[in-house]
Amino acid sequence: MAPGEGRSGAGGRAPGGCRDRVRRTGGAHRVPGRRAASARLVPPSRHGGTPDRGRTVNSSTASFTPAPPTPGPDGYTARLLADWRATGRPATLGDHLRHREALRRTTDARGSLVDAVEAAGLTGRGGAGFPTARKMRSVAAGRGRPVVVVNAMESEPASRKDQFLIAVAPHLVLDGAVLAAVQVGADTVHVCLPRTRTAQQRRLGNAVEERRSARLDPVRIRLHALPHGYVSSESTSLVRWLDGGPARPRGNPPHSHERGVARRPTLVHNAETLAHLALIARHGPDWFRRAGTPDEPGTMMITVSGAVTAPGVGEVPLGIPLDTALGRAGDTTEPVRALLVGGFAGTWLPAEDLHTPLTRRDLAPLGAAPGAGVLIALPRSACGLLETARILAFLGAQSARQCGPCRYGLPAVAEDFAALAAGQSHPELLSRLRRRTGLLPDRGACRHPDGAARLAASALSAFADDVDRHLARGACPAAHRPPRIPVPPATAPDTWR
Ligand code: SF4
Repeated sequence: MAPGEGRSGAGGRAPGGCRDRVRRTGGAHRVPGRRAASARLVPPSRHGGTPDRGRTVNSSTASFTPAPPTPGPDGYTARLLADWRATGRPATLGDHLRHREALRRTTDARGSLVDAVEAAGLTGRGGAGFPTARKMRSVAAGRGRPVVVVNAMESEPASRKDQFLIAVAPHLVLDGAVLAAVQVGADTVHVCLPRTRTAQQRRLGNAVEERRSARLDPVRIRLHALPHGYVSSESTSLVRWLDGGPARPRGNPPHSHERGVARRPTLVHNAETLAHLALIARHGPDWFRRAGTPDEPGTMMITVSGAVTAPGVGEVPLGIPLDTALGRAGDTTEPVRALLVGGFAGTWLPAEDLHTPLTRRDLAPLGAAPGAGVLIALPRSACGLLETARILAFLGAQSARQCGPCRYGLPAVAEDFAALAAGQSHPELLSRLRRRTGLLPDRGACRHPDGAARLAASALSAFADDVDRHLARGACPAAHRPPRIPVPPATAPDTWR
């Protein structure tokens, strides 16, 4: 995928057949990479560079041309990553100011952008996929002056898309946040970043300073560096932390949109979602719907890793087949055994399901969802049970340990899975694991245990042959090789504050 890859201008769903042939080899897929280098993902290491500081443009003289986003050389149209694709450098304040006229017009009429976002059919790109306009209306209708929170925590270890987007298009994210704030009547935007990513804080801090100097925004923008636990990116964790508490999820009610930061109605949106919102303000809902499917329009950022030659970040239209999305990350290094869709709290899909379109609707029957766009290709030579056991141990260690499923159920499931991966034979192991996994969902104050249960259950299904083998004859040879998926240490967060 090129630096910034979107949808062809033809509109509608990505061609289901796609140009790439998928060769099946013994139950595993080999996905040929695109020949054009421009069709590849952007390696995370390439999003360096500093914003063009000190350059100011008088917004009263800046002209706005409602041009369509830049078409790429491979026929795809870049959207969120258009400027990056066109220039190869982070978008400057000057790039941003060329669109100010459109933004001002949009902000004139409070609520009008909400209508446009609703017509566009934008849904959250942080994982939950909730309709964006509905959230905005709830907050706008709440009691008291609303607050906007930008969730740029990206605590999913396999995801890089928000980091990348903020590095190359910081003003697009900030535009979206400011536009959302104006539309719901908020006076403050809080941007939540992980404390560990100092370069990201510096870049976004520079962008905010540029805007402040140019007196662009009618609302306050404040950056915050939060502890980086896995569940600290939950929206209620952000609200708790901003109120002086720990960055741990809070049980419901009240919902954040009713009573969040400082007991004010709080709109929490993922960074990518807000960037899409800014583009809808510029180009309108009809333009937005030209990519994706009628039910799930637009593009989404993806992060592809695992058994591919060019792992990285890119932008694809919703509805693109999974194997086509995978192909944007180059050739597969060996046949793909399974694909982990949605990240560590996602779902393993066996190779035969890789033709499935990347939409909530198409993935739901398989128990999967696009989530935050994480795709991890497991090579055939790896042990899916071992990789799953390592991820479950991490998820167990990173829980907030406030609720029963996380205090007792999740560690027990992780322990059972580790025993299964190690080939420990116990007559009740599998039935106990299934029973315990089934007890995790819908019992926590947040969805953390649900995600772990989804991962565990999908592994038992996708790697059913391996389960039998491990139980009958001990761990397979692949389980004795070094693991393939990078998983952070299974330790509890150092701090919640
Ligand atoms: S379910 Fe787990 S992670 Fe979520 S609030 Fe309860 S203890 Fe914390």
